[in-house]
Amino acid sequence: MITADDERFLRRAIALAAHAVTVGDAPYGSLLVGPDGAVLAEAHNTVRRDMDISAHPELKLARWAARELDPEAAARTTMYTSCQPCGMCTGGIVRSGLGRVVFALSTEQLVELNPESGAWPVVPQDGPALFEEARSPIDAYYGAD
Ligand SMILES: [Zn+2]
Repeated sequence: MITADDERFLRRAIALAAHAVTVGDAPYGSLLVGPDGAVLAEAHNTVRRDMDISAHPELKLARWAARELDPEAAARTTMYTSCQPCGMCTGGIVRSGLGRVVFALSTEQLVELNPESGAWPVVPQDGPALFEEARSPIDAYYGAD
C-alpha cells in the first residue's frame, strides 16, 4: 500500500529523474529513506557520464546501503525510485538487505513510454560444467570437507 508519505518521497525520486535530464543523464532517480523519514542518500542515473553500465541510481544506492548501514538499519530503510528497478538493480537491492522498494513507473509503463527500454536481448548461457574443478575454490572458501 502506498501512503501519502510514500507519494511525497516518490515525487522527490521523480524530481531527481527530471534533474538528471537537465544535466545530460538518463531520466532515472532514487533515494533512500530511513524509518524516521530522514533522507539518507539520493542518486540519479549516470551511465553515460561515467561510461558505466552499472551506474543506475538503484544499484548505486544499494551499494551505499550495504557499505554504510548495518543490517538492521538497512532492513528498516525504504528505496523510492522513479521507475521499477531492473534485474541488475533488483539483485543488488536483495543483497543490500534493504527492507522495501516503492516505485513510480512500472517496467511495463516505462516500456510503453520508451519501447527501447524493453529491448534487451537474451544472452545464451551454457552450463553447468566441470563440477569437481569448479567446486574446489568454493570448498576452500566455505570450508566444506
Ligand atoms: Zn537498474
